Amino acid sequence: MSVPHSDIYCTQCDYHGRTNILNGGYWYYHEGVFCHLDKQYGWCQNCNGLVPMELLHDLNDQLDDALDEIAEKVSRLVAGKVRFNFTEASRSETESTLGTIHAIKLKYQIHSKRKGQERCLRCGSHNVTPAEEFNTLRKRIDEVGQTATGYRHPGCGGEFVLVPSAMRLRISYRPKCYTFDGEFIDDVLPNPRYD
Ligand SMILES: [Zn+2]
Ligand SMILES: [Zn+2]
Repeated sequence: MSVPHSDIYCTQCDYHGRTNILNGGYWYYHEGVFCHLDKQYGWCQNCNGLVPMELLHDLNDQLDDALDEIAEKVSRLVAGKVRFNFTEASRSETESTLGTIHAIKLKYQIHSKRKGQERCLRCGSHNVTPAEEFNTLRKRIDEVGQTATGYRHPGCGGEFVLVPSAMRLRISYRPKCYTFDGEFIDDVLPNPRYD
């Protein structure tokens, strides 16, 4: 996959980072269930750099969408049952609906139990703080062109500046999985059914 990105420079020192650190799929895996892991830009004291960090928040806004998704799947399932008398298709739809329910439940459990205990997704440290100026730019960070971000380099005081990179990185992002507690698991890959 070829993705545009910007380089991040500091006005006071030779710090260099890239905006593409949030790219790729991140998942939680717990007792056989996968769910999406929401991430944000953060500053990790341990990594001494800008890192992807967990974003744990109040999920009320997302609850409506999630319930709509389930309702739609169940409606299709019911319609299928009537038409096909519970065929293979409706069986797999049932499994997929159950998968969605389990994933939503897991996400709610993680966010409600661990809010305030966000970790660095690179080293696992709790010593990480959201980089709000970067998170505000988040969706359009690679479209803003060369710009000062207003973000002060912790411990240095220089300002981070974005410079669009002419180089397009060719990277295939391997999905990353984490435990309920936000610890990296190396050998588990998400089941694409729940993507
Ligand atoms: Zn600096
Ligand atoms: Zn770290």
